[in-house]
Parts: sequence; structure tokens; C-alpha cells
Amino acid sequence: MAEEHQQYRRIILMGPPGSGKGTQGAILSQKLGLHTYSAGELLREATQSGSREGLAIKKIIDKGNLVPAKYIVNRIKAKLMEPENLKGYILDGFPRTLQQAKVFERLQHKSFFKQNHLQVDLVLLLQVPDEYVLERILGRSSCATCGTLYHEKFKPTKVFGVCDVCGGKEFTKRADDTYETVVSRLRNYRSVTAPVIPYYEEKGLLVCVDGTGPIDVVSEKIRKIVGY
Ligand code: AMP
Repeated sequence: MAEEHQQYRRIILMGPPGSGKGTQGAILSQKLGLHTYSAGELLREATQSGSREGLAIKKIIDKGNLVPAKYIVNRIKAKLMEPENLKGYILDGFPRTLQQAKVFERLQHKSFFKQNHLQVDLVLLLQVPDEYVLERILGRSSCATCGTLYHEKFKPTKVFGVCDVCGGKEFTKRADDTYETVVSRLRNYRSVTAPVIPYYEEKGLLVCVDGTGPIDVVSEKIRKIVGY
């Protein structure tokens, strides 16, 4: 029973692209009253600025490659140090390389993180086979106004073409949600991100979740693990 153990509040969500990290992160945020920081979202925001750095990031994302750690680590660090996040946080898509995991580990040993007990206490790995990934990613979109995520088959709007949350009627697809890019993102996941899994397993932080079922079935499994 969930009540038998602590409630985890410093959580990393891992898993291949399309495994449901964004969807489950949003549910966890709402249930736990914590922010989810998506590394991909923070980077996409950075591309909006039109700055040189933003353009460099956009080029990399649009090819489905990973951006250099320098563009992401400080963005995450700044978010976690905001006073409202002292009660906990959820990270989606960070760390995504062994190098990032080690940099993050060092960061957690700094006095600010230690004093405020901000060390990660759970790494949830959402497992889905490759054949699910393409269907999930190619069918997804988000509300252009409030960002709520939808999927044409697995999570359609209640009224066709109208956002359930804000009533918005415009929906956008991510520029990197194309067949070619997904193939490259999956390749990167296997070669560069998968080695992070044993790293957290050895630390005793990793819990695997079967991410193939409907959204509410997966979120119920996560609820039991997280303990809310
Ligand atoms: P996501 O929204 O998690 O699917 O990420 C979208 C894209 O952002 C990825 O394909 C990468 O190009 C980039 N990205 C996201 N997180 C990271 C990270 N931790 N390190 C490097 N690149 C990242």
C-alpha cells in the first residue's frame, strides 16, 4: 500500500521519447503540487528568444540530437533553486547522459541542495517498446494556448478541435515530432541515455514502470510507487 512508505518528492522521470514522461509528469505535478521541469520544454523556450544560442539549440533539437550539457544544466539548476521548489520537484528528460547525471550528482552535494534536502529520492523509468513510440509521437499535439497535451487516439479532446482545459481551438505539433527525427531520438536514447539507467540502479533509486497501458492505468501504478 502506498501509505506504508514515504511520499517521494524529488523525482526524475526517465524513458524513451514518447514513453509518457510529459503526460505523467503533468499528472504528478497536479497531485503532488510540485513543478515538473521538462528539459526539452526549457530548451524549446530558449529557442523562442531568437538569440544566437537559441538558434544553435533549435538546429540541434530539429535534427533529433542532444544539445550540449552547458545549455541545459544551468537552466535546471536555476529552476531548482527557486524558493517555490524547495518542497520538491519533478524532472522530465534530465539527466539524459551519464555526464549530465554526474554533473547533477555534484550539484546535489553543494550546500544549498544538501541544506534544503533537494537530493533526488526516486528515478522512475517508463518502459515502452519502440513500436509504441512512433504511434504515440506522430499522433500527439498540444493546445497552442495552454500547452495541454493530446493524442488523436489515446487522449483526444472531449469536443473535437476544442481544448478541454481552456477552450482553445488551435493545436500545434512539435517540429521534432517527425518520423526521421524520432528514429534519431530513439538511437540517441539507446546509445547515450540508456547508460544512465544502471547509474541510478546502483544508487538504489530506480523503479521501473510498464508505460504501455492507458494513461490512467500507468498513472495509478506511479501513484502507488510515489505514495500519494
Ligand atoms: P523532449 O521534449 O524531452 O522530447 O526533448 C526534445 C529535445 O530536446 C531532445 O530531442 C533533445 O534535442 C533536447 N533535449 C531535451 N533534454 C535534453 C537533455 N537533458 N540534454 C540534451 N538535450 C536535451
